[in-house]
Amino acid sequence: MTENLLFSIIKNELHDIVGYEDVSVREAERLVYSLDFYLVPQIWMDRHQTLQKPDFIVFPESSEEVSRIHKLAKRHGIPVIPYGGGTGSQGGVVPLYGGIIIDLKKMDRIIKIDEKSLTVTAQPGINGQHLEWALNKKGLTLAHYPASEYGATLGGYVAARGSGTLSTKYGKAEDMVLSMEVVLASGEIIRTLPVPNHACGPGFLQLFIGSEGTLGTITEITIRLDPMPAVRRFNSFLFEDVRQGLEAGRRIMTQRLHPCVIRLYDSSSSERVVKRVLDLDVKGAFMVVGSDGDQRFVDLEMQIIHEICTELNGKELGSEPGEHWWKHRYDFYFPPHSLMLPEMFGTIETTATYDKIYNIFKAKQKVITQDFKEWGADYMAHFSHWFPWGVMIYDRFLITKPPQDPDEALQLHTEIWGKAARASLKHGGVLNDHHGIGFKLGWLMNELYGTAWPMMQDIKDALDPSGMMNPGKLGFIRRK
Ligand SMILES: Cc1cc2nc3c(=O)[nH]c(=O)nc-3n(C[C@H](O)[C@H](O)[C@H](O)COP(=O)(O)OP(=O)(O)OC[C@H]3O[C@@H](n4cnc5c(N)ncnc54)[C@H](O)[C@@H]3O)c2cc1C
Repeated sequence: MTENLLFSIIKNELHDIVGYEDVSVREAERLVYSLDFYLVPQIWMDRHQTLQKPDFIVFPESSEEVSRIHKLAKRHGIPVIPYGGGTGSQGGVVPLYGGIIIDLKKMDRIIKIDEKSLTVTAQPGINGQHLEWALNKKGLTLAHYPASEYGATLGGYVAARGSGTLSTKYGKAEDMVLSMEVVLASGEIIRTLPVPNHACGPGFLQLFIGSEGTLGTITEITIRLDPMPAVRRFNSFLFEDVRQGLEAGRRIMTQRLHPCVIRLYDSSSSERVVKRVLDLDVKGAFMVVGSDGDQRFVDLEMQIIHEICTELNGKELGSEPGEHWWKHRYDFYFPPHSLMLPEMFGTIETTATYDKIYNIFKAKQKVITQDFKEWGADYMAHFSHWFPWGVMIYDRFLITKPPQDPDEALQLHTEIWGKAARASLKHGGVLNDHHGIGFKLGWLMNELYGTAWPMMQDIKDALDPSGMMNPGKLGFIRRK
């Protein structure tokens, strides 16, 4: 939007809603809000290309203010982009068409902790780590530990369907949420039913979980808590091959045990990443298993897990490597171990049932290492979020010397993502397990959903007929 009379009118209307201090049009701030952790906008900025910046950044403090911002945006026909911590990796908050960034970080109040039902009600902008610390003081935990908890918000956890390190026991964000307040595109403030389990018609709570700001702004969340476990113990095993490790994980989960962690690294990750980050010299597929809760359950659970793993020739390495892994679990994602420009990389993760996951792993490994051989593309994987029916694969490609030209880089990046995603889809996987879609994967959504996709678009059109909510994301057609 050019800085003309209309720009000034909108700016002043925003001042009227949130106050003068809570509207920013500063150039430096607009630049910061033009990207998240998605590599493509970062490459674009790194190569001095033009990024689309938001026109306004606003910091509301209540649902009513959010509602008034929506109404204003609708009246003027400009986009609105809900913004949590900006730690997303899929371009979810990137303002592709400019507009108003609604930064929710001032909406960071804990409204109620119900120690009887073990739930917390909070505003969406609360920092994940701050929420966890406040709960810990009461002997409680959210038990959602993403590697980004230092910067991500509660709203971002839910809006992007996130997953924490202990999701195997405690569930993903969508399993934890009880109810929400949402401001619709129209500005209407609605609430889902107070509990997620009922027989009062379809549960539209889940419609907003994972909606990535395309259907409304989430303004309040009630989410399940857990007591801090009495004990948390780890063990570790080394399998000759990832296949045996996968079978061990499958047996653990289908026997309905509830380990808090199973993290299985393929041999490439074990021999390089695990060695580099944890200084563990392991050859084969390294697995960390954890159990927490009452000491008696933990002892029994760890004993059964031990039996399963050793039956499959897993060599027990003991608790120390497991404890060490837990202590350093986030080191993988931060300097000096994190991947960063000028490298080209991506987490091409997916999830599938147990009968399909190994074939997906092999297919993607082949696509990356063979189709992109000329670029020396590397493939590494671990399996980290386990379900009663299957498991997610957290796999990555890495090219240490990608093309420098921005267009060539973008072309290569798109080709890799297209091929990797289609290898997942072809073998029964989905586009993503817990990072979301954003605009990184939006262009593949109709291939994922097939004939169900027009129905998804109908829902979007019904809730947001003018297409103002986070346009360009989740693959929805942009309505003007
Ligand atoms: C180093 C690193 C490690 C990571 N590790 C993990 C991990 O272990 N597990 C995991 O799940 N993810 C991980 N992520 C990805 C990211 O942190 C998560 O997706 C996180 O949940 C995003 O939260 P956020 O508050 O930063 O959201 P943002 O990036 O601000 O937003 C993400 C999307 O949600 C929408 N949104 C945000 N708040 C609201 C709201 N209140 N209402 C409506 N829409 C909203 C935005 O519009 C956007 O589309 C990682 C990222 C990084 C950089």
